[in-house]
Amino acid sequence: STTKDGYRYDVARDQVTTGCQTEAVKSSSAHTEASYDVIIIGCGFTGLAAARDLSIAGKRVLLLEARDRIGGRTYTTHVDGHNYEMGGTWIHWLQPHVWAEVTRYGLVDNVKMSTCMSKEADVSYLNDAKDGTIRERPEKTDERLLPLIHKLMDIDGDGGETVFPQPWLPLENREVWGAWDISLQERVDQLDISQADRDFVLSWLSMNTCSAPAQSSFLNLLRLYSLSGYEFNIFMEICGKYKLKDGTSRLASAIYSEFTGDSQFNCIVKSISSTREGMVVTSKDGRSFSGKEVICTIPLHCLPDVEFSPPLPSAFVTAKHANFGGKVHLHSSSPVDPWFGVSDGHHSVCAAFTESPSAQGGTHLVSFAVSDKLIAKHHIKDNPKAYIEAVTNDVTPNSVHMETTHLVWHDWARDEFSKGAWGSYGPKQLSNGLGEIMRNTKVSEGLQLVNSDWASGWVGYIDGALEMGRKAARDVKLHLDGIDRR
Ligand code: FAD
Repeated sequence: STTKDGYRYDVARDQVTTGCQTEAVKSSSAHTEASYDVIIIGCGFTGLAAARDLSIAGKRVLLLEARDRIGGRTYTTHVDGHNYEMGGTWIHWLQPHVWAEVTRYGLVDNVKMSTCMSKEADVSYLNDAKDGTIRERPEKTDERLLPLIHKLMDIDGDGGETVFPQPWLPLENREVWGAWDISLQERVDQLDISQADRDFVLSWLSMNTCSAPAQSSFLNLLRLYSLSGYEFNIFMEICGKYKLKDGTSRLASAIYSEFTGDSQFNCIVKSISSTREGMVVTSKDGRSFSGKEVICTIPLHCLPDVEFSPPLPSAFVTAKHANFGGKVHLHSSSPVDPWFGVSDGHHSVCAAFTESPSAQGGTHLVSFAVSDKLIAKHHIKDNPKAYIEAVTNDVTPNSVHMETTHLVWHDWARDEFSKGAWGSYGPKQLSNGLGEIMRNTKVSEGLQLVNSDWASGWVGYIDGALEMGRKAARDVKLHLDGIDRR
């Protein structure tokens, strides 16, 4: 089926088309009940996990989703016989929630490796003078990068290991980490290293937030590094090595297939109210739904668009994350040897790499655009040629020759149901608001607010979404069953 989401640009025809083929499009079911046990808003991985768990627990559940598909910021499109991940992509067995789902649905055999992370892949980065690129073997990069990362994280003389002693409980130990909620740029500036090393290390870190180093949080990175066992190589592997051959939409569909409640797509929620009779949810097109409990999984930046009664605690309305970057796929008709290139957060494109050979004998490459640069300031669909040029200039070594035939992408920063890419924090955002949100996801009687944007563990990842959805489902089930969860 075709979703309204996503764009494709054909170089030969110089034409942008909207909408993509995906298995994520699903039909609404009948809206059968006058009142439900639980209404779940949002059909990303948070909402899907909660809906599945609660319907298996025998609860009457209604799912409401603004889009025409499941998956939210994670879905797979099929273009010319090739799969493109428009949002969330890479998964890892060190992410417990997502790996449990991969196992549950028999998808372990479906996991494959992206070519950029193979041992054969060359690594390239803008050289110190920023007038070209250096290309070298990954081992050589590791030799220089890993000691620098250790220095960066070593704020406690113990490699950073005492800062988040229980990384899945990030709010503990605040008296220690409070002072470190600074920008990546500020932290790198504290190090006694050369300017060339500063630029080099920032190049590798900027792609994590797709932001300039001054807008990225050092603390958030340290948190993710802690979850990776304090190994930067493992962190990189988690972020970009393994993915599902059939796509993340296969996993989302598998979860959805175990959901037995009702669902309404193309249903934009306008208000959520607590009344004497229970919870009432209304949609923009004038429909009204009743239930005992609501689990709202709307992303952080979209919460101010919904009217809540009683109003939400102010942190939910004012808190923001920092990621307005984007991911753009390129297809080259000529084969390209495995390669991984990074620039820095000051260029329009912060990273690009080969993903896999394509179905047509060419190469599929992935690139990441920096917040507030090309993709955000000038809509890429208005000038896709400029984007291709930026990939060439900012991250591609001169020795790599690409014949780009098309681009495929989703503009998450401009999407009214995400208003940003994955939840990645800026300096002080964890201290000012996001921490408060994490502490209290049951915001009022009958209302849980959960999303990967403020997950306790893998914040901003599919794993964090599943964690939040499953936790909320458990709390709501216990509450409905009259069990005190303590
Ligand atoms: P969402 O997926 O945003 O789901 C929220 C749902 O709420 C959406 O379906 C939305 O349409 C719906 N909604 C919003 N407003 C309304 C409304 N008013 N009424 C009804 N419904 C509404 N994660 C990884 O693990 N690995 C990766 O490699 C990775 N790469 C990424 C790359 C990009 C470009 C992006 C954007 C994300 C990436 N992520 C990655 C992050 C991951 O995709 C997200 O963290 C995760 O999908 C979020 O799930 P969620 O359910 O919490 O939120």
